[in-house]
This record gives sequence, structure tokens and C-alpha cells, in this order.
Amino acid sequence: MKYIERVLADLNKKYANQPEFLQAAREVLDSIAPAVEKNEALYERNAILERIVEPDRQIQFKIPWVDDKGDAKVNIGYRVQFNNAIGPYKGGIRLHPSVNPSIMKFLGFEQVFKNSLTGLPIGGAKGGSDFDPKGKSDREVMAFCQSFMTELYKYIGADVDVPAGDIGTGAREIGYFYGQYKRIRGVYEGVLTGKGLSYGGSLARKEATGYGLLYMTDELMKDHGDTLEGKTVVISGAGNVAIYAAEKATQLGAKVVTLSDSTGWIYDKNGIDLDLVKDIKEVRRARISEYVKVHTDAVYTEGRGVWSVPCDIALPCATQNELLAEDAKLLAANGCKAVCEGANMPTTLEATQILMESGVMFVPGKAANAGGVATSALEMSQNSERLSWSFEEVDEKLHGIMKNIYKNISATAKKYGVEGNYVVGANIAGFEKVVDAMLAHGVC
Ligand code: NDP
Repeated sequence: MKYIERVLADLNKKYANQPEFLQAAREVLDSIAPAVEKNEALYERNAILERIVEPDRQIQFKIPWVDDKGDAKVNIGYRVQFNNAIGPYKGGIRLHPSVNPSIMKFLGFEQVFKNSLTGLPIGGAKGGSDFDPKGKSDREVMAFCQSFMTELYKYIGADVDVPAGDIGTGAREIGYFYGQYKRIRGVYEGVLTGKGLSYGGSLARKEATGYGLLYMTDELMKDHGDTLEGKTVVISGAGNVAIYAAEKATQLGAKVVTLSDSTGWIYDKNGIDLDLVKDIKEVRRARISEYVKVHTDAVYTEGRGVWSVPCDIALPCATQNELLAEDAKLLAANGCKAVCEGANMPTTLEATQILMESGVMFVPGKAANAGGVATSALEMSQNSERLSWSFEEVDEKLHGIMKNIYKNISATAKKYGVEGNYVVGANIAGFEKVVDAMLAHGVC
């Protein structure tokens, strides 16, 4: 049995109850086969694959907190420190009822390769809790965040592990986490990214994942002799990534016609009114259905459905496994030219295969959404220097990083004889750098 198949078979046996993690591991291991085959004996002797698929450590803890009625509640907290071969652990904190060990491990695993692709010195991690901030008062969110950090502080630090935002963790939650860390540790250090501007945050971090996604899409289009100008774009989600993806797409001359949340989706043939969306989502924390109360000619539909809208470009920016095989068929049949992932693993393996076989260009999340973590690493640099760079400076660096990632994944795909296969390009490019460091460090 070949090395990769043996490792995958072992994983399937050991972690049969972790479907998302197995999906991510299969996607990566299958696609790096050409790179592994070239060095199979060396990698096998050093157990490179067995070590890269197993997190360095996984911390799980209890988070007791008290709600506004005075009742005690308990949630589960996680931090998966996956791999620090090329830098301190780095990855977001997800607050969503669906959070479980499988989702934490899939996200931590993906983060290792994504962080490597940025070209910056950051390892991979992920954390979170099954706590749902939706419908909670500010005081309840603060109580939860303080309790979460009262345990997590033991395992993180500016040179150890630097968490950030993700689904359910925005500026408010990062602020509460930071306050509690500072209070317990008594040190003022860049232990979290996505911080507010008044206490060490970076300009352009909020916009970075969405903007970076569009810089990547722009490079992809240009490389294929096309532009974003005049293109119709469908986007899912209405959170941090989706909103700033829509903003940059509009700035680059495209028309964004859909957004969604977990209850339904909106279609506005005139192009989405982003000021209104920001007010609904960032200020009022309300449902996307509010949109049609103002724009009465736009349409709101309950449930899922954005991928049924004919488009040139599709950007899934909500959550994992939100673009299914039947959606991929519909997108291809409707003439979609490119799918670039803003979310982590939003496209199922089957859907990815259908898109690629139908000639739809596909850029996986670990490359396309790397602008967020790359800008987090820029925030870490500013904190170390005790300096703040201008919006333009950060945005320009982000733009440069995304262009480099595109060049890197495209060249790697070409080098391995699969031109245009950005899944293979991203996975191998991310993998090779991490493995190089792991080999240098010896068996550890
Ligand atoms: P937010 O919490 O800001 O927004 C998430 C959006 O997706 C919301 O509109 C939410 O709707 C929707 N959503 C979440 N879960 C589900 C679900 N199970 N079904 C349907 N809709 C859902 O998160 P972000 O925008 O920060 O993150 C979105 C994706 O991008 C995630 O996969 C994240 O891991 C990834 N990502 C984020 C980065 C960042 O910098 N923020 C960096 C790189 C990747 P509702 O409000 O109704 O729940």
C-alpha cells in the first residue's frame, strides 16, 4: 500500500467520528501525491505525513458563565495547536453552536498550509466554542469571553500562539478576550489579532480577508486575459468576509447581486447596497431579510439558494460545505467562470471535482482567503515594532502578498504538470515549506 493511502486508512480508522477533519485530510493528502512520491522514502522514514496530520496538542476545557437571569451556563472551549514548524501557532476562534473537535481539527489542519502560503512566519492553530453569541446581551458575551480567556491564557502568548477572529468572533469579542488576558497576565503584548485600533489593532485587518479574496480573483482573471469589470458576482454569507469581498468586488467594477445568512438570502439585480448591509449586520446585528424592507424591488428567499443565480464569479463566504454537487452543476450550466473560496472548505470534494471537470476555475480557501491571516501577521509585526502603519501601507502589502500567493500556486501547479489546478498548487506549495522546516528540526 502506498504511503499516502496507508496514512489515510489509519486516519479513517482512528477518527471515523471526525468527518470534516477526514475530508480536509483527504483533500490535502490526495493532492500532494506528486510531491510525496518524489521523496517517499525520506518522508516515510521521518514519518512526515503521520506527524503533519496529528495536532501538536489539543486543549479542551469548560467555560462556566452566568446569564442575565442569574443562571449558570456551561460551554466547551477548544484550542488545537496543530503545527509550529515555521512560526508561532496562529488561527482564529470560532463561536458557533456547531463547533466540535472535528471542525476544530479540520480548521487547524487547513490553517497550517494557508499560513505557510502567506510566506510569513506563522504556524497553524484553531480554537473556538459551541457558545452562540446570537441573541446574547453584551454583558453575557463579556461574561463568556472572560471565562473563556481565564482558561485559554495558559496556552497562548505573543511568541507562542496568537488567536484571532472567525465566525462569531469579531471586534467586540476580541476586545473582551484581550482585556481579560491583560488583566490575568499583566502584560501588554500582541497576543491576539483583529484588535481595535486604539489598542494595537491594524488598519485594514477588518477588510483583509474579503479584499484579499478579490485581489486573488483579480489576478486569476487577468492571468486568463479577463477582468472583473462588468462581471456579475454571487456571494454567500453576510459576515466579515462576505461584506468586504462585496465591497472590493464593487470597487473593481463588478456587480454583486446576492448575500445570505443562515436563515435566507437576498437577490438585488441592481447590485447590493453595502451601506445598508453594514448597518443591518455590523450595527444592528439583525437578519439579512431586513434588506428588502428598504429595497422593495430586491427579493428575499428563506433557506439556501444563492448558487442558482446565473453569474460570472461565485464567492462562497459563509461556512464549510455550503456549496454542494448540485450547486456546482448549476453554476457550471449557468456559465460561471470562476469559484474562489472566501470561507474555509465551503465546497464539498464532489462539488470541487464537478467544477474543475466542467472547466470552472477554482481557487481553494487556503490560498484565496489567506489575506486575513496574512494581515494578522502584519498586525503582529506592527505590535513588535510598537508602530502603526497606514491603511494604504497595509493594503499594499496585502495586495502584494495575494499576488505572490497566486504566482506561487500557479507556478507550483505548472511545475507538477497540472497547470490551472490551484488545489494541487496550493496544497503542494504550502506543504513543501512546512516539511522543509520539519525535516530541519529533526523528529519532534
Ligand atoms: P461571520 O461570523 O462574520 O459571518 C459568517 C456568515 O456566514 C454569517 O452571515 C452567517 O450567518 C453565515 N453562516 C455561518 N454559519 C452558517 C451555517 N452553518 N449555515 C449558513 N450560514 C452560516 O464570519 P466570517 O465572515 O469571519 O467567516 C466566514 C468564513 O470565512 C468562515 O468559514 C471562516 O472560517 C472563514 N474565514 C474568515 C476569516 C476572517 O478573517 N474572518 C479569515 C479566513 C477565513 P448567521 O449570522 O445567520 O449565522
